[in-house]
Amino acid sequence: MKKINKLANELKNFLKNSPTAYHATKNIIEELENNNFKKLKESNRWNIKKDGKYYIQRNQSAVIAFTIGSKKFNNGFNLIGAHTDSPLLKLKGESITEDKSYIKIGTEVYGGPIINTWLDRDLSIAGRVSIKKNGEIVSELIDLKKPLAVIPNLAIHMNRKVNKGFEFNKQKHLPAIITAEKNDDVKYTLHNLIANQLDINKNDIIESDLFLYDSTSPSITGLNDDFISSGRLDDLAMCHSILKSLTHKNNFNETNIGIFYDNEEIGSRTFQGANSNFLRDLLERITIALGGDREDYFRALSNSFLISADQAHALHPNFKEKHDKHYTPIINNGPVIKYNANFRYATTSETASKFINICEKNDIPYQKLANRSDIKSGSTIGPMSSSLLNVKTVDVGNPLWAMHSIRETAGTKDHFYITEIFKSFFK
Ligand code: ZN
Repeated sequence: MKKINKLANELKNFLKNSPTAYHATKNIIEELENNNFKKLKESNRWNIKKDGKYYIQRNQSAVIAFTIGSKKFNNGFNLIGAHTDSPLLKLKGESITEDKSYIKIGTEVYGGPIINTWLDRDLSIAGRVSIKKNGEIVSELIDLKKPLAVIPNLAIHMNRKVNKGFEFNKQKHLPAIITAEKNDDVKYTLHNLIANQLDINKNDIIESDLFLYDSTSPSITGLNDDFISSGRLDDLAMCHSILKSLTHKNNFNETNIGIFYDNEEIGSRTFQGANSNFLRDLLERITIALGGDREDYFRALSNSFLISADQAHALHPNFKEKHDKHYTPIINNGPVIKYNANFRYATTSETASKFINICEKNDIPYQKLANRSDIKSGSTIGPMSSSLLNVKTVDVGNPLWAMHSIRETAGTKDHFYITEIFKSFFK
């Protein structure tokens, strides 16, 4: 129980300090560096060694970390991948309007959030800003932390039918109210807050990617500390498990790769997403840097295995009819293997068996998920990574309620279980 609580509290801190994919990436890298992973640049020639530990990053929002094993690399790569991004509201920096006594700022929906969960929240602002520094342009992360904005609901008296459902117009209904001071120059005030945090002159701010996020801290809840509740559990909990399994010991026999992609929520087709050559090129470069050729690279791929780690839908006890009653993952009953006949998940009987084998060897329970046959399944980085790389893949995750809500709920035990499985997979 102690170990479970300790890990859950570490996850809680990771979530709290990772309001955006940029911050998640920064925190992952910090932990990697604390564990002697060395930074590699894609533009440099790589001098990597057996038993070495390295990472590369893209766009400050995605990172791939790897340990070089002492065994020959054409034994294959052990890969686990997850994503750093979550559905969010992005601020439209120029879209500042004054409405009677209030000033509001326009937003754009990133990914597929449950929109109504974003209303009536203490929203803060975090993201990345480009600034001028010593004659160069550099990117800095900011997290203003305190509540600064709100998107209020309409009172029930003005929409008596609100509990029958309401469709939001993303342009009209989602601007966030940021002050009641009519004469405030919002851009000026915001830039002042950012400049203060970065200890720079506000005139040095050139451009920004800023997002709203729920400033309420994550919590451990339930009578027996059963649950963790937070935004961004999808998929930062899996990122955290991968990170823990890559850093729990110093030396590995095999070549293990932890992949933290951005932009899964919008289809992955970006420079830093899974539908890019980011991973494929990295694996080839590892092979070459260790003295192998293309033939060795292809041999290594055919001996590799990818665990695509993304959250799964837990049985919702109040909506049982939404599930196939034979595939109902329950929170804290173990990690979930995800199946779909149309390969929205990459799992095959062969890859599922391999995962089941790891669970059984470690005495860890597992569960299975397939959607109702009349409900379309979500997808993950699994199918595209598998087809781009020619690597056998299983899709797994932990059971979770309210996927894409501003506040999701998952199990503390499950987080421990899946981390143990990943540790065992990274040999
Ligand atoms: Zn996800």
